[in-house]
Amino acid sequence: MIDGYGRHINYLRLAVTDRCNLRCHYCMPEEGINYMPRKELLTYEEMVRLTALLSNHSVNKLRITGGEPFVRKDLIHFLQAIRQQTNIESLNITTNGTLCKPYLSAIEKLEFNSVNLSLDTLDEDRFFQITRREGFKDVLDALDAFSMMPLNLKINMVVMSDTNIEDILPMAFLAKEKDISVRFIEEMPFNGGNDRAKASVWDHNDILNHLTQELGVLDALDTKHGQTATLFKAKGFKGNIGIIPAYSRTFCGLCNRLRITAKGVLKSCLYDKGVFDLKGFMRNGASDEDLLMAVQSALIHKAKDGFEAEGKRLGSMMMESMSTIGG
Ligand code: SAM
Ligand code: SF4
Repeated sequence: MIDGYGRHINYLRLAVTDRCNLRCHYCMPEEGINYMPRKELLTYEEMVRLTALLSNHSVNKLRITGGEPFVRKDLIHFLQAIRQQTNIESLNITTNGTLCKPYLSAIEKLEFNSVNLSLDTLDEDRFFQITRREGFKDVLDALDAFSMMPLNLKINMVVMSDTNIEDILPMAFLAKEKDISVRFIEEMPFNGGNDRAKASVWDHNDILNHLTQELGVLDALDTKHGQTATLFKAKGFKGNIGIIPAYSRTFCGLCNRLRITAKGVLKSCLYDKGVFDLKGFMRNGASDEDLLMAVQSALIHKAKDGFEAEGKRLGSMMMESMSTIGG
């Protein structure tokens, strides 16, 4: 699958739910979002069908996201079906880590290529302030458990200029003793209309300057195709440090991804408002061939970058919550 700019699309991000047990203030308002009725969500069968189809046509990497994936019942069985019934080679998941404990041995058996664990602070009180829920110790336990597994562990920290700047360095130091990647993400405006007063976004330059003041010059590592994080190595660190310019959008030229939201809408860019209703099409009897043509035609019109996609929203505000998109 190739888009209109000749970019090879091989990476699917699939949001398996819009529900979440946390209420991170950069993602959702205090009361949460208006969850979709369950029948509006893609069923597991529908998700396996779409993934299997795409995996027969150049998509070889899948990331499971949400909402919080482990909130959805029987997630492990679904993941086993993905392993057994699709040609996905690289299976990955993004989780807040709070609900993983009962599933650790099943998770290990699934042989994930990577787990992205979201954690925005190492301070328990600030964790509560950011997520508006308990669960800090569960995330630290998940971090320890995942760091013992044979997979790439990446910690995602959203940098909020008014909330967790002082957490940047302690979080970076997690990569000193452990061979993990600690990634700092620019805050994006997808917070479901949360009206928290936000000071200006700390961009990738602000984050890098802050890190180098304490850690000295960081060596830039090679970038893999489609990688959104710019990776660095600090002297004496086992792991690495990443910066994701999610708001500055400097990585779009090498984009290799498509997204399917929890309600089955295809997004060809994180910043578009959704370009095709795959669920409706499937439920109206679309064949595999019809589905494939619909995806390919959406990709031909994929925006050049996130700015173009945002511009095409024709004035519609970005009121979505990241929990419906999946990051
Ligand atoms: N619930 C899971 C989690 O938090 O890891 C998966 C879904 S979450 C929407 C996926 C990623 O998006 C997380 O790493 C989260 O920190 C990030 N995210 C959510 N809202 C964001 C925002 N407004 N700006 C930047 N990143 C955001
Ligand atoms: Fe939930 Fe993840 Fe959004 Fe936080 S970032 S509210 S954990 S979906």
